[in-house]
Amino acid sequence: MQFSRFGEKFNRYAGITQLMNDLNEGLRTEGAIMLGGGNPAAIPEMLDYFHGVSTELLADGALIDAIANYDGPQGKSAFLKSLAGLLRETYGWDISERNISLTNGSQSAFFALFNLLAGEQTDGSFKKVLLPLAPEYIGYSDAGFDDGIFASCRPEIELLDDGQFKYHVDFDRLPLDDSIAAICVSRPTNPTGNVLTDAEVARLDAIARERGIPLILDNAYGTPFPNIIFEEVTPFWNDNTILCMSLSKLGLPGVRCGIVIANETVTQAMTNINGIVSLAPGSMGPAIANHMINTGKLLELSEQVIKPFYQARSQWALEELQRQITVPGFRVHKPEGAIFLWLWFEGLPISTKELYQRLKARGVLVVPGEYFFFGMPAEDNNWRHRQECIRMNYVQDEAKMLEGIAVIAEEVARAYAE
Ligand code: PLP
Repeated sequence: MQFSRFGEKFNRYAGITQLMNDLNEGLRTEGAIMLGGGNPAAIPEMLDYFHGVSTELLADGALIDAIANYDGPQGKSAFLKSLAGLLRETYGWDISERNISLTNGSQSAFFALFNLLAGEQTDGSFKKVLLPLAPEYIGYSDAGFDDGIFASCRPEIELLDDGQFKYHVDFDRLPLDDSIAAICVSRPTNPTGNVLTDAEVARLDAIARERGIPLILDNAYGTPFPNIIFEEVTPFWNDNTILCMSLSKLGLPGVRCGIVIANETVTQAMTNINGIVSLAPGSMGPAIANHMINTGKLLELSEQVIKPFYQARSQWALEELQRQITVPGFRVHKPEGAIFLWLWFEGLPISTKELYQRLKARGVLVVPGEYFFFGMPAEDNNWRHRQECIRMNYVQDEAKMLEGIAVIAEEVARAYAE
């Protein structure tokens, strides 16, 4: 069979596909310790709550109404209105339902946004998305119809006390030229748990405005929901910002609901793309989230259940890692949010792809760090740091995490001793 250019591009076995396959296998393989994927934790209070909400929505007809009807291509109107109201009240942002569109998961929103802005332009020029801080979310890396749509660069590394470190945007290195069509950053960041400071966001916003390009902020883990963010930072939006959110990390990845908050031009473009690609985004997630807003539960559960759960768990995992892994050169990125810990083994004699294979052979799944450094200039190909980090989630139960951490500690010690 001959595939088209689109077919050749999207038929590849991408890093993200490998990750989702491992996640699927790991979740179904008896005894496997799945520290690799991005599935949110099964928080008992949240599962109970979703059980109750489903029963309630079934009883009052809203669930059947949602699954028996198409919404419009912009997404469920009732939810667009209630969410606009919530964001206006919570943050004072000047937005209405005309600034919000929904997608089938925020992953699809990024696919649409990147291809809307970057790649080959109608005038023959080629535009890119600047990722100001590598490592960045692996799920972006293969999303361009054209190859090579990302430009990124090394971050600054601040060494902190207690065996921790933190990445910062290195503004002097940013590959800023006329080929940049947008700036995009996840905040909190997958894979590192980094949260860009307010000053960094303000500076990126200023750069974006000066150049007349949008700033895309990926808020999949951020405020006001699911609120998996442990630093006091200011939520950010203005009409040059495209803020992407999701219901997934709230505990609802299966409903596939992404949310794009942007100016009316971008909202209209997303609506048009939805019509062509999917007719309409799915209705169940918005029906549940609308109910959560109307009953005041969305922010309450995010603040009182989700955030404390992840914060306590990340601290616990950090302490266990530091207790069990004793090799010199081991550091953890300061956990400031998201559902991952980013482990750095400075001077590791093997690549983390090799470490990944050795851990997988022992039933422990993590993600090798190499995947997250895409779009970097050729001069950084030999930057050792790219080969020295792994990402692990901390959402499994404590007994499994302890077992997994013990295996990582053993395999890393063996690698350093070789
Ligand atoms: N953005 C980030 C930073 C993520 O970590 C993820 C998923 O893990 C997504 C976007 C996409 O999530 P979803 O498509 O479930 O909304």
